[in-house]
Amino acid sequence: MVEAAVAAGVTRMVAMGVDLNHSRHALELAHEFPQVFAGVGHYPTQQSAPDISALRALASDERTVAIGEVGLDFVEGDGPAREVQADRLDELFALAVDIDLPVSVHDRGAAEEIAAAITAHPGLRGAMHYFALEWDWAQRFLDLGFYLSFAGLVTRPSRNALREVVKRCPADRLLLETDSPYGQAHKRMGTPNRPAYLLDTASLVAELRGIRVEELAEIERANAFALFSKMT
Ligand SMILES: [Zn+2]
Repeated sequence: MVEAAVAAGVTRMVAMGVDLNHSRHALELAHEFPQVFAGVGHYPTQQSAPDISALRALASDERTVAIGEVGLDFVEGDGPAREVQADRLDELFALAVDIDLPVSVHDRGAAEEIAAAITAHPGLRGAMHYFALEWDWAQRFLDLGFYLSFAGLVTRPSRNALREVVKRCPADRLLLETDSPYGQAHKRMGTPNRPAYLLDTASLVAELRGIRVEELAEIERANAFALFSKMT
């Protein structure tokens, strides 16, 4: 999978963790492949509480470039109560500020609460992963200093409002991701997503912004290195 990604021009990837074991696995991959870096995180619908000291230890690894995924999910029915999720996010954001790593934020139905949590943690930096909202929200997160990370969703024909956000997002705040194995581009619905397929999204984003895909690649590289500052 990494070879296919590199062959497609995707030379840096961040494997995000959704719980402690998954984060350890992401870190193993990051040590195995020079193109892969790790995010260590705790997905909001996990029943268990995050083990902050264990995450802190994983985060000190030279290959860990982010605290993620973390966030709030008020759509998935079987997650912990909203207040429980919010308390945990508060701890995870505090950890990120304390060790100066960016966060990769998962938001489903909780943009207002996430914006409030970001505001409550001065110095927090990060990306809104799988950004899917309209411009007003984009503006709000940009104003908070965050990056917007776009996935295959923008390639779906019905997503005109999201395409508008892609056009208007400042070049120095725009990131691309696959969210693989999820987040398929329109033409690949029904098959697992792969890092190599980032080009599906990149081609459309370049087209929407009226630039060449090579130019977008340069922008992406600069942005990834700026946000994930431990990335080499
Ligand atoms: Zn997510």
